Amino acid sequence: MSLYLHFPFCKRKCDYCDFNSYADLESLIFPYAEAIKAEIKTYLPQSNSIRSVFFGGGTPSYIPVRILADLLLFIKENFRLAPDAEITLETNPGTISGSELAYLKTAGFNRLSIGLQAAQNRLLNGIGRIHSREQFLSVYKAARDTGFSNIGIDIMFGLPGQLLQDWDETLEQVTALEPEHISAYGLQLEAGTKLAADIAGGLTQLPSEELVVEMMQRAMDHLLRKGYRHYEISNYARPGFESVHNLRYWYGGDYLGFGAGACSTVNNQRWSNIKEPWTYVRRLSEGVSVIAEREELDVQTRAIEALMLGLRLRDGVDLRQYQNEYGINLFETAGSELKSLSGQKLITVNDSRLALTDAGIILSNMVIGKLLNGI
Ligand code: SF4
Repeated sequence: MSLYLHFPFCKRKCDYCDFNSYADLESLIFPYAEAIKAEIKTYLPQSNSIRSVFFGGGTPSYIPVRILADLLLFIKENFRLAPDAEITLETNPGTISGSELAYLKTAGFNRLSIGLQAAQNRLLNGIGRIHSREQFLSVYKAARDTGFSNIGIDIMFGLPGQLLQDWDETLEQVTALEPEHISAYGLQLEAGTKLAADIAGGLTQLPSEELVVEMMQRAMDHLLRKGYRHYEISNYARPGFESVHNLRYWYGGDYLGFGAGACSTVNNQRWSNIKEPWTYVRRLSEGVSVIAEREELDVQTRAIEALMLGLRLRDGVDLRQYQNEYGINLFETAGSELKSLSGQKLITVNDSRLALTDAGIILSNMVIGKLLNGI
């Protein structure tokens, strides 16, 4: 079992962001933390051992550290945490100091996921990030000085105005720091964001599709050369530092999510909470359920998810095991697709293991879509 705690608070909303996060909601932080505790209590007792805890958002590092430490203590008191449990804090430069990081390290956080996104201040400004490259370097150094030995850095390609040279520089500078984990995400343009409006209004534009593909290829080549294992479409790690928490999602494991909009999946039951933090707080203070939606995952849905998520992993999916679990023999139901995609060198099928190639990763949506037709 893994635990996720959602903190929907940000200093400012980034231009491309459509996550459940809000600026100017600081007055709700303390009652929200109390509401999370109240929600956790509704799921106790739990006998499962907890392998990972993830404080995500939003910007959890924007929350006063005493509140974060208090919540972690509450979790430790109420769940059975494995001795080597991975405990991650999503961190944004410009929201936390060295002494605060030291405090959180002592409280038990053992992994940081720091959002840099780009090594050029003009690009950071262009997407409305609150921080500069220098602030990122300072928080990274502080984290190392404090003794954090498991740090992930998030970077993005396909940003407005981003040149190939910018991306190469970002990759160079990030790998020079030798973090244990690197997430390299392609920017997704989401409807309703400021960036989408700016693009529609002709104020800015995104790089061409060819350039974005080249950036993705450069990330794969560069990070491989620097000793990172490309273990998931957007994620790279030094051996042994793959994110335990994210692997839980990709392998379809159970997790409990707490907080506004958080989703949980346990024993083929899935539910998600109401999105608005103020309603979440109010309902918990009234002792009312915060669950907005519930569904039972039937075998068909689980089979689709297992293929979609499993193919995101470079290790891919064992088709024999898949058949045992879901009763679907993809060699029969998607035989012609497997043959055609393999002929185009987009997938490999070794023994019974199906995986995407580098070219297949770049076209992953199309490839996975075709294979899903066989379910
Ligand atoms: S910091 Fe993250 S969650 Fe907050 S607005 Fe920016 S992208 Fe969204």
